[in-house]
Amino acid sequence: MKSHFQRLGDLWLGTEPAQRLRLRQTSLATALMLISIVMLHYAVHLFGGSGRGLLWAWTVVSLGGMAVAYGAIRSGWSLRFRDPSLTSQQIAFAISAAALGYAQAGPLRGMVFPVLTLILMFGMFQLRARKAYALSLFALAMFSLVMATMAWLRPDAYPPAVEIGHFVMLACMLPAVAVLTARLSLIRRRLSQQREELGRALAQLQAIATRDELTGLPNRRQVQALMDQELLRSLRHHHDFCIALADLDHFKRVNDLHGHAAGDAVLRAFAQAGQAAMRGTDVLARWGGEEFLVLMPDTAMPPALGGMERLREHTAALQVDVGGAKVSVTVSIGLTGHRRGETLAQTLERADRLLYKAKAEGRNRVCID
Ligand code: GH3
Ligand code: MG
Ligand code: MG
Repeated sequence: MKSHFQRLGDLWLGTEPAQRLRLRQTSLATALMLISIVMLHYAVHLFGGSGRGLLWAWTVVSLGGMAVAYGAIRSGWSLRFRDPSLTSQQIAFAISAAALGYAQAGPLRGMVFPVLTLILMFGMFQLRARKAYALSLFALAMFSLVMATMAWLRPDAYPPAVEIGHFVMLACMLPAVAVLTARLSLIRRRLSQQREELGRALAQLQAIATRDELTGLPNRRQVQALMDQELLRSLRHHHDFCIALADLDHFKRVNDLHGHAAGDAVLRAFAQAGQAAMRGTDVLARWGGEEFLVLMPDTAMPPALGGMERLREHTAALQVDVGGAKVSVTVSIGLTGHRRGETLAQTLERADRLLYKAKAEGRNRVCID
């Protein structure tokens, strides 16, 4: 059960984790904006500044901008952009609001500098180096414009000498923040590269662990797991499934007559033809050497026998080209259905016995029980 508090959080941030993170950042930025608004109202209350009308206009626009950013993200509209967090847009907006706040804060305008640093720090989570430098340059441009204008319009409250001092401080501080952001961006990029490499390595390992290298078929371990799953499913849903063991006939002769590489080519061709001959839900796996296992989930004996006869015929019709010579091969198959209450080992043992029966009776046939 979710508490009221959690439900309120879901309403505000949504439930999608990436969106929640974006909206949390914007909410934090909005809180920062609210504090700055209160502080500016305090400053104007104390010293008058450039007038109440201007102050309220600035307040409405500043809050409105944050509301627009929140709405753009919350509605999913911003998902069409490369950065759906709208980080650089929000930072540029906040820088402009801070610069205009600076123009009204009078003697308390020094308060704006730590706020400006904080604004730029939001970029540390998202921005690429180039964007970070561009934004710090934009901040410097905005503030120098405001400083110059105020020093010209109201030199009593914004003495040019003081403004030059402020400008020099900003000119040193802003690039430093950008450098730090760029460093973090590099670390982030490296991390995501490493994550990608790890993901690729994991997929490779998974393929190695579950696939037979020569034929690309599921290997013994994998088909064992699939059989375990099928056994559980058949118990739960009361359906049948069949298992067959297929062994290529006189395969040693292929190796002896044409070489091991030719034998490998025949195994690959059998794997391909076998998969093509079977239904998509059936699994052909390499059980070991020239022996294969077929798992037919949710299948009764009559269709299973049809499938194995098809596999036998397709195999006999194969003509594998091995360096000039054509090699053909046949397969013997022991096919059986799983019986309620028995273990997989018991089913496999019966399939193995049936396979030997097929060999003994002259090969190139399917034996069932
Ligand atoms: P049978 O009809 O009784 O099954 O006769 P067979 O010759 O197929 O059986 P046997 O068990 O005597 O020989 C199997 C051969 O399969 C021997 C082995 O070298 C060959 N073999 C097993 N795995 C591979 C493989 O990956 N590549 C190749 N080229 N040959 C393999
Ligand atoms: Mg064989
Ligand atoms: Mg064999």
